[in-house]
Amino acid sequence: MIVVMKSGTAEAEIARVCAELESWGLAPEKIVGQHKVVVGLVGDTAALEPTRIEELSEAIETVLRVEAPFKRASRAYRNHEFSSVRVPTPNGEVWFGANHSLVVIAGPCSVENETMIVETAQKAKAAGAQLLRGGAYKPRTSPYAFQGHGESALELLAAARTASGLGIVTEVMDTRDIEKIGEVADVLQVGARNMQNFSLLKEVGRQPKPVLLKRGMAATIEDWLMAAEYILAAGNPNVILCERGIRTFDRQYTRNTLDLAAVPVVRKLSHLPIVVDPSHGTGWSEFVPAMTLAAIAAGVDGLMIEVHPNPKKALSDGPQSLNFEQFAQLMPQVAALAQSVGK
Ligand code: PEP
Ligand code: MN
Repeated sequence: MIVVMKSGTAEAEIARVCAELESWGLAPEKIVGQHKVVVGLVGDTAALEPTRIEELSEAIETVLRVEAPFKRASRAYRNHEFSSVRVPTPNGEVWFGANHSLVVIAGPCSVENETMIVETAQKAKAAGAQLLRGGAYKPRTSPYAFQGHGESALELLAAARTASGLGIVTEVMDTRDIEKIGEVADVLQVGARNMQNFSLLKEVGRQPKPVLLKRGMAATIEDWLMAAEYILAAGNPNVILCERGIRTFDRQYTRNTLDLAAVPVVRKLSHLPIVVDPSHGTGWSEFVPAMTLAAIAAGVDGLMIEVHPNPKKALSDGPQSLNFEQFAQLMPQVAALAQSVGK
């Protein structure tokens, strides 16, 4: 349920309404929008009559029920204003959201050594990327496959961050690693395989760094938004959704089926920023440019693209990684299309 306050309502009156709602056993959450303040009420509100709340104050414009199962993630919860996620980086602030420019996150699947991650960071930056990605802890289907260099790779990410000034996006798979990853990462990635790891969602929700939440490969849009709801409910409002393809029946020509329709659908349902990963979404570098551009046309807020100095020798996801030249060729097209769609 949301309580929309009239614009210009005094702070003291909002506080009085919140205090009154608290005395009813509710947990009001104040959300300051661009034009209005909304008080969100999540919990057992089924028996509450909106008119009873409306009677609390002349300053209440309206009281509405949020019908969707995801409450904090729904557009209604923020009175239909889109949220902005701010990522402070050495190069300045990067913003994700419907009202911000397109953000490009680029980098290898895994951090392999210092030279490759620093070089990739510099090339990615030169081509126009704002953030560097790179996995230290890798969720691999096989326990015998390269699992990432772990803690030592975090130091390499820190070196790449210093060398390039780019902010870092890296995956967290285990609640025990959140703190040390948070010392280096500017955005914590929760991977597709962990989208419904509820203990992990709760923990990343209890820390302040923005979270890039990838869609599970068998997750419906509602499952995905409910996963985001866990992070929001735990207190972290900085969630970025990432569509990375879902599993359908074709495994021969595409690794996953990139669900670009999810972009406008999520835009309708949620205020959260949405990013597309065309690399995992297709599995093949030759299809990445087309789906990158299609994602921009679909209205994304950002892209996450795997880039590697020598994809043939990559320790993970080489076939879907662009080399520096391919990435540098793609970026002017990204910029042109982004501009033409007002992004
Ligand atoms: C990745 O980003 O390298 C990754 C493992 O992605 P996903 O969780 O989408 O498979
Ligand atoms: Mn990968």
